[in-house]
Amino acid sequence: MNWHLSTRPLRAVRLLTFDLDDTLWPCFPVIHAAEREVHAWLDQAAPELARRYDIDALREHRQQLARDNPDQAHDLTGLRLRSYRELARRHGVDEAIAEQANVIFRRARNRVTPFEEVVEVLTRLRRHYRLVAVSNGNAQVECTPLADCFDHAFMAEEVGAAKPDPALFHAASQATGIPLEQAAHVGDDPLRDVEAARRAGMHTVWVNREGADWPAELPPPDVQVRDLRQLLDYLLSESGRAAQ
Ligand SMILES: [Mg+2]
Repeated sequence: MNWHLSTRPLRAVRLLTFDLDDTLWPCFPVIHAAEREVHAWLDQAAPELARRYDIDALREHRQQLARDNPDQAHDLTGLRLRSYRELARRHGVDEAIAEQANVIFRRARNRVTPFEEVVEVLTRLRRHYRLVAVSNGNAQVECTPLADCFDHAFMAEEVGAAKPDPALFHAASQATGIPLEQAAHVGDDPLRDVEAARRAGMHTVWVNREGADWPAELPPPDVQVRDLRQLLDYLLSESGRAAQ
């Protein structure tokens, strides 16, 4: 295994923050399933919209809205709602379908399937650390199979900024009363997770499930793991905490 050893001792770490999408569960399958579900519902509730806009066209409209409103780009739920509303208005459809479509999307968005080791490892880590979920996405952890795994969970749309902005890390620090120097962030995205956390003064763990190369232009993570089981082994041995 390819450890990048931290120059700062991880035994000082008391708080672990976790990215969700593609760190603890695969993201695209659940988004695609949710979008298919919304479209199937639109097909019944507003067939003229469903006919005019397939799944790709709905996504394109929403992404254009995000590009036109960069200050709102972190608010995925708000953008989705606004996109449905605008399209409904444009085509003379009752705007109430926007809220309903959004409810359907969110319910399906929470139907995530964590990678196989995740629940067990988080359960064990929680004996030693405070655990906080910090996500740019809008899955509601309390409605997922990881509902009992965290002390707190924050979404970008709740704190007003997405990673690499440090707002989510500060929310985790504030909620637990643990300074960021005593925290490690665990995530799959070199820039939004690892580099963002490094700049915020945290220890960094890159979860590299696909065996990708680290981007040459960024300083390397403190620790690189293939999955959370490697992280558990590393933390418990490095920190001197007995494996339990
Ligand atoms: Mg991610």
